Amino acid sequence: MMPMPTLKILLIEDNPGDARLIREMLLEARSIKFDLKIVDRLAPGLDYLGREAVDVLLADLSLPDSFGLETLITIHRKFPAVPIVVLTGLDDERQGLTAVQAGAQDYLVKGQVESQLLVRAVRYAIERKRIAAELTLEQARLRAILDSMGEGVIYHEAFESKYINQALSDMTGYAPDEYSGYLDLLRSERETPRDMGVLYEQIEDAIEHAGIWRGEKRLRRKDGSEFDAGLTCTPVVSPDEHILGAVTIIRDISQEKDLQAQKSRFVANASHELRTPLTNMKTTVYLMRRQPEKTPEHLDTLEFVVDRMRGLVEDLLDVTRFERGKLNLHQEYVTFQDLIKEVVQLQRAEAGKKHITLSNDLCSDPLTICADKRRIVQVITNLVINAVNYTPEHGNILVQLSSDPAGYAVVRVQDSGIGIPPEALSKIFSPFFRVNEGGVVGTGLGLTITKEIVELHGGNIEVESEFGKGAAFIVRLQLATVEA
Ligand code: ADP
Repeated sequence: MMPMPTLKILLIEDNPGDARLIREMLLEARSIKFDLKIVDRLAPGLDYLGREAVDVLLADLSLPDSFGLETLITIHRKFPAVPIVVLTGLDDERQGLTAVQAGAQDYLVKGQVESQLLVRAVRYAIERKRIAAELTLEQARLRAILDSMGEGVIYHEAFESKYINQALSDMTGYAPDEYSGYLDLLRSERETPRDMGVLYEQIEDAIEHAGIWRGEKRLRRKDGSEFDAGLTCTPVVSPDEHILGAVTIIRDISQEKDLQAQKSRFVANASHELRTPLTNMKTTVYLMRRQPEKTPEHLDTLEFVVDRMRGLVEDLLDVTRFERGKLNLHQEYVTFQDLIKEVVQLQRAEAGKKHITLSNDLCSDPLTICADKRRIVQVITNLVINAVNYTPEHGNILVQLSSDPAGYAVVRVQDSGIGIPPEALSKIFSPFFRVNEGGVVGTGLGLTITKEIVELHGGNIEVESEFGKGAAFIVRLQLATVEA
């Protein structure tokens, strides 16, 4: 037989007769070994609990220094882990029940207790407390898991939320205690409460019959901003097959949607950009047949169009290479001043056609970068060509090179042109984005590619512009440390 453990029992009882009776009943029970401490007030009881680990507490709630439920609440608040059996008078059985609701494990009515019953109450109280503690731990574990998930989670019963996790709170801006209803708080501006009612019916129907509901919904955050969400709702079923409630997982899919939209836009734009020159070619060929005497002129047009198409296809290929991470850099040590001088020299003729002054201002200390020379030439060329394109006649363009204390070479291409409207600044590097479609021919891919190349080299690019007065593009590339 296993050795019987000694139970440490604290009895708080101000009536010496009742206390003696309890001691005798415990002694009478041969099935437990115990170590009983008796105090007659709450204060020494709390003291004792603070010093000793007690297996179970027997307490009369009516004491000289504390009365009724208050006694229990004080003990429970200070020592939530101690199992408690409340002793009530014959005339006050209701207090026993209330005490159990307030955290006691059991109650006994004085005068109706006998040894067997007392021992059983003590044992059950300990066991119940253990199970409750395990449940609390399990709940805490589940909560920690749910709270560490990236997706938002709502558990609801009859479309009233009972729990939301941290991710949902982060996603929507509502703290768990502010959250109410099911998705009502998150209802988009576009929808009415009636629409939500219809949605709830659909969800209820689907989870009951199909066991799952999936959908997309636009949701509103506390700050009023909205986002696209993917929702999956599954029922929580009781052992008797009754739907208790449902768990909804909420994912912010706005980025996915943006990407999808960007892809569709890309394909649409690319096809459009290719169709325009093709139509142009077709017309030119038609004209060549009808006006053979103008063939040389038409051939020039054709050559121009073919070059433009080739440029576009090159750009498209570059963009897709970036997307697939396929672009290989052939890096070598390059003296930045030489590279910039080369580009400026080459573009001076173009600038000259518009009487634009293209000058450079390069620091005298040679700056060396480790880079794919051809690609960096492409970057500076794109920026200078844009500056020429978007600067009216007689303007100025200045290409500056300096270094910053963080160890970067800084190139600034500044023009005195039309500038960029503030609302376009954040979009300027997106594929096919162009401020105004008329005027300058272009694809809207130049800056996308430029930025990709710069970032692939570990650098960054920024734009500054005062609309109507010019624009500046600033490229930063890390300086190479070359051994002397
Ligand atoms: P593209 O020049 O072929 O249109 P880019 O990607 O190079 O494409 O540029 C995107 C848009 O950014 C241009 O259409 C133009 O509206 C604007 N932009 C670029 N550079 C400048 C500049 N230096 N000044 C004013 N606007 C510019």
